[in-house]
Amino acid sequence: MTVVPRPDGTRERVSPPISTEAEPFWDATRERTLLVQWCPACDRGIHFPRAACPTCLGDVLEHRPSTGEGVVYACSTMASPGNPTMSGREPYVVALVDLDEGIRMLTNIVGEDAAAVAPGDPVRVAWEPLEDARHLPVFVRIKA
Ligand SMILES: [Zn+2]
Repeated sequence: MTVVPRPDGTRERVSPPISTEAEPFWDATRERTLLVQWCPACDRGIHFPRAACPTCLGDVLEHRPSTGEGVVYACSTMASPGNPTMSGREPYVVALVDLDEGIRMLTNIVGEDAAAVAPGDPVRVAWEPLEDARHLPVFVRIKA
């Protein structure tokens, strides 16, 4: 993997591969829309997108729009990059966010006050552009 630095010293994010099950999720990110895969039989969200519901094994699944809001479950500030694509961004925050739809997403908290984030903080989705016109969902703190 060749990682080319941007003029500001940061690196391009690697565009995540797209599985068949995740195509609707990634297509929606082109319009900065966050979708959650949903099992109608269980009436619950699924993340990451997959071929069958992990609870009932049902394979009739759909995608529903997310509110784009949630709460930080856990977070950690990375003082050094965990992989080369994050070089130049440190310190940056890696977090698990519990979305309103009941799924937990591994993501980043961004924004000038990101390092002050703590578990329990409310957050809202933001979007980081990828080189192929998709966007990566990241989150910002919601000010009280
Ligand atoms: Zn199910």
